[in-house]
Amino acid sequence: MLPKFSYARPETLNAALALLEDGNARIHGGGTDLLGCLRDRVFTTDTVVSLGAIAGLRGITATSDGGLRLGAMTPIAEIAADEAVAGHFTTLADAAGVVASPQLRNQGTIAGNLCQKPRCWYYRGDFHCLRKGGEICYAYDGENQYHCIFGGDMCYIVHPSDTAPALAALGAVCRVSSPSASRSVPVAALHVPPSVDPQRETVLEPDEIITEIVVPPPAAGLRSSYRKVRARASWDFALTGVALALVFDGDTITSARVFLSGAAPIPWRATGIEEAVTGSKLDMATIKAAAEASVAGAEPLSMNGYKIALFKGLVAEQLEAIRG
Ligand SMILES: Cc1cc2nc3c(=O)[nH]c(=O)nc-3n(C[C@H](O)[C@H](O)[C@H](O)COP(=O)(O)OP(=O)(O)OC[C@H]3O[C@@H](n4cnc5c(N)ncnc54)[C@H](O)[C@@H]3O)c2cc1C
Ligand code: SF4
Repeated sequence: MLPKFSYARPETLNAALALLEDGNARIHGGGTDLLGCLRDRVFTTDTVVSLGAIAGLRGITATSDGGLRLGAMTPIAEIAADEAVAGHFTTLADAAGVVASPQLRNQGTIAGNLCQKPRCWYYRGDFHCLRKGGEICYAYDGENQYHCIFGGDMCYIVHPSDTAPALAALGAVCRVSSPSASRSVPVAALHVPPSVDPQRETVLEPDEIITEIVVPPPAAGLRSSYRKVRARASWDFALTGVALALVFDGDTITSARVFLSGAAPIPWRATGIEEAVTGSKLDMATIKAAAEASVAGAEPLSMNGYKIALFKGLVAEQLEAIRG
């Protein structure tokens, strides 16, 4: 059952920001993650502030330089179905198309997708673990088959969003407003690793709202994709996933941005893959080197060693697919 809280549905951004000023209110996008967290007592709040009545926070528009502007309240389903997104920002369309189920994609928003809480079953259950302010991580010596192989430090979650690695690969930037200022935060710098703060998922303050996400224009020769492997094909979070954004000049890759999902507590920048492919043609030797590089330095837990082979296979398959 949901706990008691007051519910506000302001009609302007300034009114919403004023409601967030006391630091305890929570933002409601589509509510698909927020309401589950409140129901399961992952956290509590006195006030839920819906952004649903604020004009201008929804929609996909082209920017004058050929990029994209995604309103924070744009449903994931609209992004998945948008022709311009599919044509020029394929990794984002791919990622949006595999988020959850059709119902959740209709209700869930792009900003909510970036800011959702982790799915660790101890964290979502009745365990007062480190991320909830307790003293230990129950996953480290427990059931950790869905947890991270990179970046674990006191907490071993994997970041749950599919669109975050895709947007990070495309170099997208969040526009953020607070009662006192506005700022821009690259999606690649939005999430906080546990080595910095194991109780925080994003760099956003409680009184900050993402208002839009801006994707820069695609470079000439950009090819991009996102694919995740999941336990159930109908809907599920990534066991492993890879967002590729590769710029080709003829057959040669001139630059690469690659982020993994299902790998780490944040969308994990795969610099090893980037280095293996940049300046090269995607022949089998390069693909093999990139697949090996995808797991270099990985530190699997007791039950998730299978992710090593899964990442290598996934990366090799996706590079072959993007080569065409
Ligand atoms: C059964 C199930 C399966 C799922 N499967 C997947 C999956 O496969 N892949 C995936 O990526 N996700 C998945 N999700 C997670 C999630 O519900 C969706 O990703 C959805 O996009 C979240 O968006 P929302 O608008 O409903 O977020 P909300 O629930 O409204 O918000 C989520 C969080 O973001 C914050 N927030 C919302 N909007 C803003 C904003 N504008 N500025 C700052 N903070 C904000 C909220 O305060 C809250 O903490 C799944 C969820 C469920 C319940
Ligand atoms: S992995 Fe993180 S969220 Fe899960 S039990 Fe450990 S500390 Fe808690």
